[in-house]
Amino acid sequence: MTSETLPSSAAASSQLVDGFGRRITYVRLSVTDRCDLRCRYCMAEDMTFLPRHEVLSIEELARLGTVFTELGVSKIRVTGGEPLIRRGIVDLMDSLGQLPGLNDLCMTTNATHMAQYAQALKDAGVKRINISLDSLNPERFRYLTRHGDLAQVLEGIRAAQQAGFERIKLNCVALKNYNADEAPELVRFALNEGLDISFIEEMPLGQITDHGRAAEFVSSAELRESIEQKVTLRATTHDSGGPARYWQVPGYDSRIGFISPHSQNFCASCNRVRVTATGRLLLCLGQENSVDLRAPLRESSGTEQVRQVIVNAMAQKPKEHDFTHQQDEPQILRFMNVSGG
Ligand code: SAM
Ligand code: SF4
Repeated sequence: MTSETLPSSAAASSQLVDGFGRRITYVRLSVTDRCDLRCRYCMAEDMTFLPRHEVLSIEELARLGTVFTELGVSKIRVTGGEPLIRRGIVDLMDSLGQLPGLNDLCMTTNATHMAQYAQALKDAGVKRINISLDSLNPERFRYLTRHGDLAQVLEGIRAAQQAGFERIKLNCVALKNYNADEAPELVRFALNEGLDISFIEEMPLGQITDHGRAAEFVSSAELRESIEQKVTLRATTHDSGGPARYWQVPGYDSRIGFISPHSQNFCASCNRVRVTATGRLLLCLGQENSVDLRAPLRESSGTEQVRQVIVNAMAQKPKEHDFTHQQDEPQILRFMNVSGG
């Protein structure tokens, strides 16, 4: 029996549960490893990108979405590389947006192309958008992204606001000597614009040469202290189901999150897996355990085989990641654009 012919009650009762009893309801789907920017913490300057035939087609990505939702996944975040430079992205979002059982379709983007796509994404059923923004200073922004244009991203943020997405969130990777001093200013921007913002500790993914990861480490606690010099922060009980811990400034709706893969281990409540642009199911961002979904996807037009591979893979989900900030060598050789951030 293929999954297309599974009785809906059987499909509905299917669940993905790993060896530690954690239920997997969230998939981050990378639709390309390519990007129009070269953020220093994410990519090397000279990147060799995947040949196109290795990357899942839009149709294959949509089929994966169907299988995952049949297995009880209720949230899909489309990411990359830069998802908005993937040809056919709106068609993919349209297909995913129609999946029964998918309550939360969202995207992480650098927003350089958001002005062009915001309304189409909203119409496709995308609920929430996360936008990377590491600096509000145009020269610094250009330096950090190696050639990005801050004005284009600010225009993208405005377009997302106008399209009416729920709780747009900024993501900022804080590096001690590059942008950590801007944390209070970035918070002020988020408060004024009615946006959420999360600060992320840099993770040791992929070999980069232009800064030492250990030297750039700045903990969430340090960032919070510097923000508290300017505004009052109150801890909230808000739980997004993810790794962030949230704070708020009295009088404002914005949430200020801190994602601390080094200083706080959040693995016990992990509910997610990732799929790379080549269709590798990554069971943990910080470990190498992975399973190929592309071969079964390409071997048959049905989805039963893919479904079985995914269900069996759950036994390989590791208990936790093991990042340390005291070393420069990458602990995982994949870059974040490959893992799907
Ligand atoms: N291009 C899109 C963007 O930048 O939002 C989506 C893909 S990007 C890989 C997803 C997220 O991963 C971004 O928020 C980025 O800042 C973050 N990221 C990339 N490399 C990282 C690293 N080494 N440590 C922590 N976060 C990283
Ligand atoms: Fe591109 Fe996003 Fe990586 Fe920056 S963080 S290089 S925008 S994929």
